[in-house]
Amino acid sequence: MLTFDSHCHPQFPQYDADREEVIKRTLAAGCGMICVGTDLEMSKKAIELAEKHEGIWATVGCHPNESIKELQITDYEELAKHPKVVGIGETGLDYYRTPEKEKQEKQKEIFRQFLALAVETKKPAVIHCRDAYEDMIDILKNNPVAGVVHSFTGDFNLAGKFLDLGLFLGLNGIITFTDEYDNMVANVPLDRILIETDAPYLAPVPYRGKRNESLYVEFVAQRIAEIRSVPPEEVARQTIKNAEKFFGIDFHIS
Ligand SMILES: [Zn+2]
Repeated sequence: MLTFDSHCHPQFPQYDADREEVIKRTLAAGCGMICVGTDLEMSKKAIELAEKHEGIWATVGCHPNESIKELQITDYEELAKHPKVVGIGETGLDYYRTPEKEKQEKQKEIFRQFLALAVETKKPAVIHCRDAYEDMIDILKNNPVAGVVHSFTGDFNLAGKFLDLGLFLGLNGIITFTDEYDNMVANVPLDRILIETDAPYLAPVPYRGKRNESLYVEFVAQRIAEIRSVPPEEVARQTIKNAEKFFGIDFHIS
């Protein structure tokens, strides 16, 4: 089954011992990847992997918890011009790990800068949001952008708010952990879903707790298929199409 992992971090140190092996078996099995940057160094490494492999593309950005340290948006503006950079992020708000009001204001400021960069480069935003939905929706209403809310774990009502803003929803292994999200997964339009692993984190059942890798995105597709009572191949096919359209890429591995 061909699949596409719309959000992963194969550049992370968790793969230092066997990175090329993992990437090779992933691409050989017909699974493409978007390697997502989380700070300046990880964004540069994402580009390196995308340059090296045909089925890998990169995004450049800074995770909200990292963005409250020193950050020069101009550094990212340069990287964003690279032809294999197909998105801006991750960027967003994370109040779970940043409860301090002052630092949250800083996150918002940096987030707006990255959204502006997404608009300017005409590349979609890869958005991280944790415990900050109200502020997130407020900012997105005032700064309209093409984007995906990655690792989405809200209910159907919250999904609707993001869908109304034109955003895609990124679903990952979390939906295999519990039936809590079944109603949302069953009811959001399939043409607005991207599937992802967020590897090395959040490995889906049956690998929960282990190091995750892009190939396991298949279990996310299977879970969506099971909830919606459709064949897994249909979910895989549609989400590949969605990713191609969303990131403006042509995914084929020879
Ligand atoms: Zn991530």
